Amino acid sequence: MWPGWNFVLLGTLLLGLDRTLAWSSNFQHHRYEELVRALFAVQSECQYVTRIYSIGHSVEGRQLYVLEFSDNPGIHETMEPEFKYVGNMHGNEVLGRELLIQLAQFLCKEYRAGNQRITRLIHDTRIHILPSMNPDGYEVAASQGPEFNGYLVGRGNSREVDLNRNFPDLNALKYYYEKTNGQNHHMPLPDNWEQQVEPETLAVIKWMQNYNFVLSANLHGGAVVANYPFDKSRDARIRGTSTYAATPDDNIFKMLARTYSYAHSWMHKGWNCGDFFHEGITNGASWYSLSKGMQDFNYLYTNCFEITLELSCDKFPPASILSREWLGNREALVSYMEQVHHGIKGMVYDNNNSPIGNAEISVAGISHDVTAGVDGDYFRLLLPGTYSVTASALGYLPSTLTVTVGPAEAIQLHFFLKVAPKKTNLNLQSSKKNFSATKTHHGYYSDPQQ
Ligand SMILES: [Zn+2]
Repeated sequence: MWPGWNFVLLGTLLLGLDRTLAWSSNFQHHRYEELVRALFAVQSECQYVTRIYSIGHSVEGRQLYVLEFSDNPGIHETMEPEFKYVGNMHGNEVLGRELLIQLAQFLCKEYRAGNQRITRLIHDTRIHILPSMNPDGYEVAASQGPEFNGYLVGRGNSREVDLNRNFPDLNALKYYYEKTNGQNHHMPLPDNWEQQVEPETLAVIKWMQNYNFVLSANLHGGAVVANYPFDKSRDARIRGTSTYAATPDDNIFKMLARTYSYAHSWMHKGWNCGDFFHEGITNGASWYSLSKGMQDFNYLYTNCFEITLELSCDKFPPASILSREWLGNREALVSYMEQVHHGIKGMVYDNNNSPIGNAEISVAGISHDVTAGVDGDYFRLLLPGTYSVTASALGYLPSTLTVTVGPAEAIQLHFFLKVAPKKTNLNLQSSKKNFSATKTHHGYYSDPQQ
């Protein structure tokens, strides 16, 4: 122990106390400038484990700032999953924005205090927090104030476009492919999609293209329930009806939604805001069907599993309840992030132990593949059980392994793919036919026994 230790400890304690006081009095609504200041304050407090970057800007030119937490900010480390939270997509639904500011302050404070759970989370995960996807809408809503905010004022962006109805609709293609054994993941974007979306949506889609997100939630208000995909009903012809639209990963999505609702102080009780949701969760389409939403887009265009969290009856609650809301959501926000570490993960290599980027990982019985990132690492959320998993990549023979997943940390499962002999190409038709029984999308030429 060196001589200055006591002095340093005392200094740290005092600083800690000082900061605790500064942040604990921070239960207030944050206008844009205050939000930016709060994010940069966290960044300067925790500069070795945080980074701030902008994914683009709003119609009125406000930056869409993301605060990242990682032991190596700015870098994707192989085998370390990427997680995101998105708040305030509807400008007048403001609780998520405030909760994400609180969460950022909490992660920083607890990391500095040596909280083992938070330290581990930050070391093993790359966490991206976008407190406001719609800063222009927020300013419109906030200028009216909590008590006077109309139900729809500030919901859309400054062109009054609802951003949660603004993503390219990939469901129709997905539902068509389900009937025709077509591609089951990474649906193609329509031509000219960039011209068809708002700047805020464009920024978020480019963000999804640049990071291989595994898990996400977007935070809303107006109800209290964890809503999971699909949001869009398979039978859009029957207007006004609610029909459950399950994804191929329905059981995982239910587990993810339950993780949040049961870790939340009251969401799981079911009765909230005059509505009842069993266990505090609902399939989106079975509540009400919507097209062009963000959570369906995440699942259909990327590897990311996203749910929509409705967190308050009052879309713009008074500042006096923010501290209670933070305490009600804190454990849920942390527990949900920890879910990114379940299932399986691993590397896909070639014969020379060089990583193969963008390989496809399919799980028998679940018609939704994921892909490895450019560095060759993949992440596949799964419930406990035994699975047959196949990795395939163009020009290689697929490889199938059996794995048993437990309730704890993700199981590591690595694949080594052999280069496909040239003659295999000639057998494309026959092997594809055999293969279609076990794999439902465009097959790479392969033998299911491989
Ligand atoms: Zn909303």
